[in-house]
Amino acid sequence: MRIAIVGTGYVGLVTGACFAELGNRVVCVDIDRERVEKINRGEAPFYEEGLDELLKKHVPGRLRATTSLEEAIGESDVSFISVGTPSGLMDYIDLKYVEEVSRGIGKCLREKEEYHLVVVKSTVVPGTTEHSVLPLIERYSGKKAGRDFGIAMNPEFLREGSAIYDFMNPDRIIIGCMDERSCSMLKELYRDFKCPIMITDPKTAEMIKYATNSFLATKISFINDIGNICKQLGIDVYEVAKGMGLDSRISPEFLRAGIGFGGSCFPKDVKALVGKAKEVYYRPVVLNAALELNETQPLRLIELLEKRVGPLRGKHVAVLGLAFKPGTDDMREAPSIKVITSLLMKGATVHAADPKAVPVARKIFGEHERLRLYENAKEAVKNCKYVLIVTEWEEFRDEELYRGKVVIDGRRVPEAKVAEHYEGVCW
Ligand code: NAD
Repeated sequence: MRIAIVGTGYVGLVTGACFAELGNRVVCVDIDRERVEKINRGEAPFYEEGLDELLKKHVPGRLRATTSLEEAIGESDVSFISVGTPSGLMDYIDLKYVEEVSRGIGKCLREKEEYHLVVVKSTVVPGTTEHSVLPLIERYSGKKAGRDFGIAMNPEFLREGSAIYDFMNPDRIIIGCMDERSCSMLKELYRDFKCPIMITDPKTAEMIKYATNSFLATKISFINDIGNICKQLGIDVYEVAKGMGLDSRISPEFLRAGIGFGGSCFPKDVKALVGKAKEVYYRPVVLNAALELNETQPLRLIELLEKRVGPLRGKHVAVLGLAFKPGTDDMREAPSIKVITSLLMKGATVHAADPKAVPVARKIFGEHERLRLYENAKEAVKNCKYVLIVTEWEEFRDEELYRGKVVIDGRRVPEAKVAEHYEGVCW
């Protein structure tokens, strides 16, 4: 099939590269010219394992990038909208990028004679595909959905850090559509996938994505709540989680207590669902609690350090980990941001290390006389007595980093137990 992907972030570019690998012709569109040029040189504009190799294999060839939406829509049968859907004001989702692309696709379809299928892959609140994307495309194209063009919603469940594997090996594919033709085109595109394919309507597909992310985020906040109680009672929450996880109704996944969830999805998606609930005058108690606990959980690292060593003014503290999780350079809503900001406000000098996210951190923090960034953790801990573990990178599983130090661990790194003083955030 000929595919256009609009928005070449983590989801768009991985989707494009994987569809190319599966034998399709893919054209990726982005407004970021630098990003487009990089992709056309066969280089990934961000770190994701295996993506560089896929781009090198298919560029030039089955995959190319452009800044021209018109060109891309003109030469494709199906287009995926995969632009960002960040948090807006007061928990509401900000749909400006999705709406901008919908208007753009509408204008392109005005000139196009053949049938074209538009698929929303971005995470959007229930009702968006039917009540925002579809009417905008109809208005700007002068055409009718279901007759002249198709519309569908196909949420993405990949995880950064294992995005290519996840895209190629999904647990399920959800297709939300309103007409038979759109549905069959998508089923044909996914024909080689062995997982269950669930067909539903667009707003249910949209809700499945939010309910999934909200459930996983709540599971993390739940085990952190239990962990905070366990710490006070002298119980190891990891033993508790092991015992719980043996229950087939619960499963051991997402029961790693620590400093909570970050990243480009969980925080903003749970907030967006809370915002959507407000529109229908419902206050989701569980979702609000999951967010509230997550807000303060990273700062427990600092509370515990202060309890142990007193005021932090003038002290040198190493922070291991900047990315919100291992395997990515993404720092959106990363707990490290809260931890570092709080340490700096308390007058500490911070030596932060991350194997991939240092360039991203430089953009976030700019120049600060009391913040030093390192790719190598050994360099970061060299002149620090105090070490906080924020991201569980494989590189940090090295006893040498912790000998003779005071370590507060937010991610349960067993090698850190050799420290002079070791304690976990909730164990
Ligand atoms: P991103 O911020 O990494 O990338 C978005 C891209 O869209 C950027 O490159 C930006 O320049 C481009 N863009 C913005 N406006 C554009 C326009 N008018 N035309 C063309 N390109 C435009 O976003 P992401 O992390 O890939 O997320 C995209 C969507 O997928 C979001 O809705 C997100 O919630 C969802 N999602 C993300 C993940 C994830 O792990 N990152 C997983 C599942 C779903």
